[in-house]
Amino acid sequence: MNSYKLNHLAMEFRLDIGLDYGTPLDFFPVITSKLKNLTIVFIKMDDKISGACFKVDSQQIMFINSKHPKGRQVFTAAHEIYHLFYEDTNFTICNLNSNDEIEKNANRFASFLLMPINALYSYKKENNIEKWNLNSIIDCEQYFQISHEALLYRLKSGGDITFDEFNLFKPNIKNNALHRGYDSSLYEPYIGKDYTIGNYVRLVEEVYEKDLISNGKREEYLIQAYLSDLVYNLEDL
Ligand SMILES: [Zn+2]
Repeated sequence: MNSYKLNHLAMEFRLDIGLDYGTPLDFFPVITSKLKNLTIVFIKMDDKISGACFKVDSQQIMFINSKHPKGRQVFTAAHEIYHLFYEDTNFTICNLNSNDEIEKNANRFASFLLMPINALYSYKKENNIEKWNLNSIIDCEQYFQISHEALLYRLKSGGDITFDEFNLFKPNIKNNALHRGYDSSLYEPYIGKDYTIGNYVRLVEEVYEKDLISNGKREEYLIQAYLSDLVYNLEDL
């Protein structure tokens, strides 16, 4: 699928769930709130696996590698949305560096979902960017909350930076961001432990409140989804 079609799909998706064309997204809270049947499981996986997803009945479940930095976790989640909404397969395991055509489409969709073509164009214009450098790149990735690597790929594929610049700008990003006055949250895991957010939690609580399951069963279901915090009140909610 060509880039314009994927960008169009991403824009339609944003509109379908009530978002505008270009505002940066606080991605996990936004999709947890907007996609009512989505469950997101953060779980430790082999480093080369970014995530996985599957569909069962009306429910959509995505798994995100809990060891990866937030920028990459967000990108993986946006990538999984492509599989969940635009692919027929019920179960997919993802390596974002794969050369598989479907994986590449999912990556480009993710990039456009987080940073639509027009949004990047407007950003460039508003900030008077004629030639990208490390300062403007870090400002931009922080603004859109997109991973450093994803932004570099996007700029390279659009001809905005060369292959040599890509390699020059790529390393040591956390330190480079800190020295430009940003916090490191984009470069560290969003949830760095096994944990579940989204509809699974809502469903368990709902069936318990309707007396369809006992409290023991409720606790068992929550613990199975790595939510012992909710059972033992370990966190001050
Ligand atoms: Zn994939």
